[in-house]
Amino acid sequence: MPGTVADLTAGITDLDAPTISILVGFSMSEGPRKAERRAGSLLADRAWQWPLLDIWNTWAVANNVTFYLWTPSTEGIATRQRVLVLVHTIFMLSTRERDLDGWTQANSSLNVGIIGVRSLVAKQGDCALCLERADQPRYDLSPTAAIAPHHPGCRCARVPIFERGK
Ligand SMILES: [Zn+2]
Repeated sequence: MPGTVADLTAGITDLDAPTISILVGFSMSEGPRKAERRAGSLLADRAWQWPLLDIWNTWAVANNVTFYLWTPSTEGIATRQRVLVLVHTIFMLSTRERDLDGWTQANSSLNVGIIGVRSLVAKQGDCALCLERADQPRYDLSPTAAIAPHHPGCRCARVPIFERGK
């Protein structure tokens, strides 16, 4: 899973960084439905590929796993769903970056003692990978910390872990 929006850009072919920036803007400033519509219009004439999403779809079909945002399909993922999952994943990655930045800044300016982060699973039964990850606190606030989102369309949230006594 890409750890940052920039990593996500690298993982999608035929969508350049400026286009991803526009999608970040939609994701962060519009409601999800409106962001999805605007993204759908922006991407309508573009042939873009997101290999990671296809890998997840294949895995989900083989393991009978369904996701909140898309129904895995042996035919491949429909365009509308691809856009929806992309917008959602950009939003989740953007909020992850914002959280990590905010906690790091709070540590340096307010000395609040945040020493790590833990994933909160969105919904029991959502995804085996997320359930497994939820039990593994990460004592790391770097952009490469292995914290949610764990896969395209992941809805898991994050909470900081505080140093004892802070
Ligand atoms: Zn998740």
